[in-house]
Amino acid sequence: MKVLILGVNGFIGSHLSQRIIKDTTWEVYGMDLGVDKLGWVLDHDRFHFVEGDISINKEWIEYHIKKCDVVLPLVAIATPKSYIENPLGVFELDFEENLRVIRQCVRYKKRVIFPSTSEVYGMCSDPSFDEYKSNLILGPINKQRWIYSCSKQLMDRVIWAYGSRGELDFTLMRPFNWIGPRLDSIETAKEGSSRVVTQFIASLVYKEPIILVDGGKQSRSFTYIDDGIDAIMKIIENEGGRATGQIFNLGNPANNCTIKDLAYRLLDMFKNHPKHKNDDRYSEIRVQDAKTFYGDSYQDIYTRVPSIDEAKEILGWEPKTGLDDALRLTLDAFLEEAG
Ligand code: UDP
Repeated sequence: MKVLILGVNGFIGSHLSQRIIKDTTWEVYGMDLGVDKLGWVLDHDRFHFVEGDISINKEWIEYHIKKCDVVLPLVAIATPKSYIENPLGVFELDFEENLRVIRQCVRYKKRVIFPSTSEVYGMCSDPSFDEYKSNLILGPINKQRWIYSCSKQLMDRVIWAYGSRGELDFTLMRPFNWIGPRLDSIETAKEGSSRVVTQFIASLVYKEPIILVDGGKQSRSFTYIDDGIDAIMKIIENEGGRATGQIFNLGNPANNCTIKDLAYRLLDMFKNHPKHKNDDRYSEIRVQDAKTFYGDSYQDIYTRVPSIDEAKEILGWEPKTGLDDALRLTLDAFLEEAG
């Protein structure tokens, strides 16, 4: 099998490439702007990398869509700070650039596995989100945070429509707060534009305050990257066509925890870490209102728990990594990166 991964050097792309090369005989063709997350896989003879930008290197992409069996367009801006600071950039990259790729998959009859997002459920009040029953609830237009959710939702609907006309073999997957090594970087966290786990780890490393937005009562279901990759592998394998035309929440409901609880768990792990247990001081935990932290056009999501019945029944997948293990593995990797 030939797998095309656009955004191959990202958090998901790099872990997926390593897993494919390690566990299968498949070929991976990948494009990205850089190579820093790819590691050993770059030198492997079944891994074919080209440095490029999906908005520029269009011919390479079209040629490789024709050549490959399955396409994973993973290129996207996916950090809440950017939804507010660069909403048009989010729309252009996450929707417009990816739409061209989707249309080429239709034209060349290629299977596409598209990364939708848990963010599409928005402020849905269901105790757990169901792929086919939950409503997708977004805030008003002046709350620009929702442009990411809305762009992804529209793409889900476009893909679904092509699929319903029998013109596209697809699977939509919805990651719920995946964490692990190489999620963002200590550097982006330094600028304050990372996702919460990386942001907190960077604050611990630099002895800066950990900020609980609005007190940290909001919760997320943190999912370890290796568990997520297990699911994507099953989707790519697509035994008996079982993943075709399906949407899967890929998250770990057992790991649901508040942001406040997350902060205290990470602080505790950091204080007990062999490299840091003798530090002379540690980050304090502070509360800040969302408006000060993100600006006016932010709105938060207070609960986000996936129903994973579809993935369990259809793919035979279940996440295995508990919250503390997932956090410890992520923390260890970042502390190594930080030297
Ligand atoms: N958050 C926080 N402190 C930070 C960064 C984020 O309290 O330094 C909160 C944020 O308001 C949100 C949650 O943590 O409720 C998760 O944020 P993240 O950026 O990881 O992305 P999201 O899950 O909202 O897509």
